[in-house]
This record gives sequence, C-alpha cells and structure tokens, in this order.
Amino acid sequence: MFKNFIKQNIFFVLLVVFALNLATAQEQSINKKFPKNIIVMIGDGMGRNHITSTNYYFYGKDSAQAYEKFPVQLFMSTYPAVIEDNTKYSLKYDSEYFWAEFENPKDGFTDSAPAATAMSTGSKTYGGSIGMDLNKQPLVHSSQIAKKSGKSIGVVTSVPLSHATPAGFIAHKESRKQYSDIAQEMIDSDADVIIGAGHPDYDNSNQKFDTSKYEYVGGTTYWEKLKKGYNGWTLIQTKQDFEKYQTGNTPKRIIGAIQVNSTLQQERKGDDKAEPYKCQRNANVPDLRVITNVALNVLDNNPNGFFVMIEGGAIDWASHANQTGRMIEETIDFNQAVDAVVKWVETNSNWDETLLIITADHETGYITGPKENDQNPLTNPIVNNGKGNIPGMKWNSNNHTNSLVPFFAKGAGSELFYLFADETDMIRGKYINNTEIAIAIKLLLNYSK
Ligand SMILES: [Zn+2]
Repeated sequence: MFKNFIKQNIFFVLLVVFALNLATAQEQSINKKFPKNIIVMIGDGMGRNHITSTNYYFYGKDSAQAYEKFPVQLFMSTYPAVIEDNTKYSLKYDSEYFWAEFENPKDGFTDSAPAATAMSTGSKTYGGSIGMDLNKQPLVHSSQIAKKSGKSIGVVTSVPLSHATPAGFIAHKESRKQYSDIAQEMIDSDADVIIGAGHPDYDNSNQKFDTSKYEYVGGTTYWEKLKKGYNGWTLIQTKQDFEKYQTGNTPKRIIGAIQVNSTLQQERKGDDKAEPYKCQRNANVPDLRVITNVALNVLDNNPNGFFVMIEGGAIDWASHANQTGRMIEETIDFNQAVDAVVKWVETNSNWDETLLIITADHETGYITGPKENDQNPLTNPIVNNGKGNIPGMKWNSNNHTNSLVPFFAKGAGSELFYLFADETDMIRGKYINNTEIAIAIKLLLNYSK
C-alpha cells in the first residue's frame, strides 16, 4: 500500500523527508541526508529471541548490543508474495492471527531468497526467487542503482557466496538452487567485493576434499578463470590473506573464497549440540568480522561511497538444526561484525554520511521461553541463567516462522524508516515491511522509476 503511495507521490515523500531534515536542523544540507555509504547487515534467521538468548549467554543481560542502542528500533514483517509451494497468495502478516494460536507463527513464512529480493528490490515475490518478479522477469537491485550513481558495491557472507541472501542482492535467477549460474552472474556483475564460503577444495572442517565441488563458485571453468584474474578480480583464499587486507592498500576488486565449503564454523565436525566454543573450531578460517573489515577496506577506496550487504548466514543453519550452542556462536560472530562496522563508521566515516541497518530476513527455529505452547514474550520470556550459561529457552520448529524480526538503523537517512512504520503489532509495536528497506534506499539514492 505504502509502496504504491510512494511511487505515485515520490516528490511529496522527498519533500516530507526534506521537511523532517529542516525541522531537526535548519542549516543541514539536503545532500547530507543522501548517504554516501549504505551498509545492510542481515542475521539470517535471527529473531528477537536469538539476540536475547545470545545476550544472556555472552553478557548476562539483555540489550547489550551496540545496535540495541541505535536511534531507530522497529520490527519488520518478512512474508513473501506467495506461499505453500507458490500456489497461494500470502496471508500477509496479521498480528491478531499470529499471536492467537501457538501453531499460527508457522504459517506463511518466507525463505531467504524472496526475503533478500524484497529487501534489495522493494518487490515481494515467490519462494526461491533470486531478484525475479512473479512473472520471472528481472527486478532492479538497490546495488545496481548504487553502482549507476558511481558507488562501489559488495556482498559478504559466512555461508556460500552464491547462497540465497548474497545472491538476492546482486543476481537474477528463477531459483536459488541454480548455484553455479548464480555464481557466474555474480562474478560477471560489476560488484567490487564478493566474499563468502563455498570453496571448491575444502570441506566444512577446512580439510581438503578428495573430489572438489565447484558448484558454489560457478563451475570448474569459472574457478580456473578466477585464479587467473578474470575480469580484474583478485581471488583471495587463505586466512592470512583476509587478515592482511583488513588494512592498508587493497586490490581494486576482491573475490574471497574462504577455505570451507558451506559455513565458516557451523557445519564443522564434532559435537554439534555442545555449548558455545566447547567443540573445537576451524582454526584456519577468518570470522565474519575479518571478512567484513576486508570488504570495507576495499569499498571505501571509492570517494563516491558504497553499498554493501553483510550476512551472518549460519545463524539460520544452526537454528534449523536446533543447535543452541552453535546458534549462539553464530549470533556472536554476527554481533562482532556489527561492532567492526560501527568502529569503521566512527573511525573512517561518520553517521552523517553513512547509513547502517541491522535486521534479519526471517526467524528460524521458533525460539520461545522454556514454557510449553506459549509464544508470548511477556508471559514466556527467555530466562537469563547468567553469563556463560545457556539461557532457559525452547526450540519449537526446525524451520522458519512468519515472526516479525528486529530492525535497527542509525545514521544518514535512518529517520526515514519511521515514516514507513505505519503498522502496529499488538506485542512488538510499530513495524515496517521488508520491501521498505529497498524503497527507502532507492529514495536515498535519489532513484525515481
Ligand atoms: Zn533457513
């Protein structure tokens, strides 16, 4: 609804945005509110209770994250355009329905592909879609507009580089399962940074495969081409290389294939139900914080700024498997990457020229407090058992839910999201729709199609 309103009234909306700016600071220039840098960070599958339980484990208290102190704090709906194997239009998010029965949150959820597509293009679409509309026609990614306006662009993830979320910000393919085609499209795109797992030669414990698997990097031919500097790409692979490029001079374009096949840590061998960090970790693999620093160090070479999407991808994988310890590890990994970004903004940029968004694509695992059949966080909250202790919590699904996810923003243009928060949930309060991330970013990039 709001999207059509904006399409028809784009100048009015811009006027409102400018008026808001003027109201807050008379002499503030309009340009100041068009961010130079836009950073979107997505915890895949990270619902409110993922953050809370991680806070309790790591800090012994809630609201411990830098982003939980950001000026913009809302929730966000994530449902796709169509559900149930793409046969039925979605019920949308209905607050009364969602909270009425314990099983209701399991209805109408999205997968990561249309969720990323919605956040990147502003259009809801079908399950599995990578940047394609309901008629399987390509949509316009925010990153494409950012590129046209002279910015650098990139995607970073802790799962394969051609997986649904990073793909959903760059590529256009009918199905998220076309990994090899997606990787090729990403490698042939004008992205400046692509970093993720998906290395053809290493398994999930950073050991050499007997037979390499090239799917996530676009097949053998593309892999061989990348090694030879195809299209100006510098391919980096080792932990040492990632650590090196966190600071100082960098190549112009970096494609990073981390030496694990699917996730940095979550799929490693060993006791997968152990408490956080109790099971031996992959020592020779960089964490999300390090690869985030590399991305920022490459992208900030451009005086026109950049657009980047950074994903903590394996929060979702741990949650599908109901691995409490590994879910907490992955959420900590994501939080540390957020801290690195905040530090980058405050050291190398500032909040007047950079917009930072922290959110999720959907919730996974249906985490509640420890009581049976009570999804209300007021009557069945996560129980704090103190720092270093697993909190009282319960997994109620091994799949996604249609829960509202947390949304935090700070910096240039972030007030815009209050304009979009025109719906209210009976428990979570004001919320935006996931498409409104792209609509806001396109507005902030001064795009009016
Ligand atoms: Zn998932």
